[in-house]
Amino acid sequence: MKNKITILIIASVFGLIALSSIQAYLISNTYELKKEVFIKETDKALDGIHNKNELDSLSDVWKEDLRNHINDYKSNRISKTEVLNLFFRKTKSLNTLHETYYNEELKKINLGYDVKYKQDLISIVIIEGSILDTIFPVKTELRNKIFGHDFITKEAYEFNMTTWYTESEYIHQKDGSIVTDSYDLEVKNKSYIQIKDWKRIVYRRMAALFFGSLLLFLFVIALLYYSIKNLVTQKKIAEIKTDFINNITHELKTPLATLSIASKSLKNDIIKANPDSFENTLNIVDRQNERLQKLIDQVMTNSLSNEDIVLHKEQVTDNVYFNNIIEDFKLSKQHNNLIIINEIHQEEIILRLDKFHFATAILNILENAVKYCNNQPEIIIKSELRNGNYCLSISDNGIGISEKNQRQLFDKFYRVSDGNVHDVKGLGLGLYYTSQIIKAHEGIISLNSEINKGSTFNIKIPIN
Ligand code: ADP
Repeated sequence: MKNKITILIIASVFGLIALSSIQAYLISNTYELKKEVFIKETDKALDGIHNKNELDSLSDVWKEDLRNHINDYKSNRISKTEVLNLFFRKTKSLNTLHETYYNEELKKINLGYDVKYKQDLISIVIIEGSILDTIFPVKTELRNKIFGHDFITKEAYEFNMTTWYTESEYIHQKDGSIVTDSYDLEVKNKSYIQIKDWKRIVYRRMAALFFGSLLLFLFVIALLYYSIKNLVTQKKIAEIKTDFINNITHELKTPLATLSIASKSLKNDIIKANPDSFENTLNIVDRQNERLQKLIDQVMTNSLSNEDIVLHKEQVTDNVYFNNIIEDFKLSKQHNNLIIINEIHQEEIILRLDKFHFATAILNILENAVKYCNNQPEIIIKSELRNGNYCLSISDNGIGISEKNQRQLFDKFYRVSDGNVHDVKGLGLGLYYTSQIIKAHEGIISLNSEINKGSTFNIKIPIN
């Protein structure tokens, strides 16, 4: 059974891990999807700005300017570096206009979040037949921005790549004469947008999913925890029941065996002829009968819970009532070495108790103090008044109870199964019954105990 539970727990943990992994995978996929949708949304919203004629005409200015510079380059009037310097100088001067216009348009569409835009130059290539002459990129030129803000490209989204293709003519000297030739110019550029706090926006959009997944996950864990706990409890109950059956069988065996011998003896002619022996045997039958009755009563009454117990409360004077219980207990025990130190409160206090049930509850504790003691039993019974409560403590010098067992001691059928207490038989019902009776009197029972030193049971009941 224990193995089965361990296997179940391990399987559940693996199941949970697998489930969490699938969930994490799905969430990460959804995240990517939501991210894409969000970027597309932004892109679409910015489309209106990017298609504005005003921006196009700014681009036309640098294109025209560039073409003139390339013509100069082809006519050997300026170098490649000069072409680039002039190009970037021009775009820089146009950028102020571009930025102002772009920002104004951004304000108009009111996206609700911060967006930055830039357009980078990718390449400028002159094509003449099969000859390609690259103006840009070159190692010496680190600039590449045409328009827009400054930000790191890695943190941005590329949303557009455009290629401008044009044909142009230039005049140059060839073999001593002036000739006109043509070339193709190819300029590539890329546009990027950077969205500030995009992660927060995407996460906010996924909040319901996160929350739902978390709830589901917690629900599955709670369900699993509850099922396993239930299983462990069921297992414990099954063990307790088996113990109880073993204990009660043992308890019943002795009186039944004695009764069987006694009934055989009663049939014996010698016993029949001797009135003393006959009487003696009949007394044995009576005693065993009484013992059996007691056992059955114990099982019947002790299986009641505090709600089922009907109390018949009467007024009692504390010291008279408890002294009587102690005296009766001493008489019943006839234990030569039993020491009971009686420190019951000397002032008379009136308590309202069910005399019978409360006495049985106290007797159970006293019985145990003798039962679970390996040397000369010494019991101290004290009482005192504290905050309107009557506090009774019963201490013994017995074998004590470990902290682990103390927690379950008042449970139904619970018996300490470790240590050297197994030779003492019982049903594990005494302290359960005691605690139910104290509860029915609206009181509290607690325990202080140390192994091999002894135990103290503290009972607190309100004085009505
Ligand atoms: P029972 O005595 O029939 O087993 P109880 O409910 O009276 O049942 O006690 C439950 C268990 O608590 C006992 O089996 C015993 O191990 C432990 N116990 C009770 N009283 C004492 C005590 N005074 N000292 C040590 N152990 C005790």
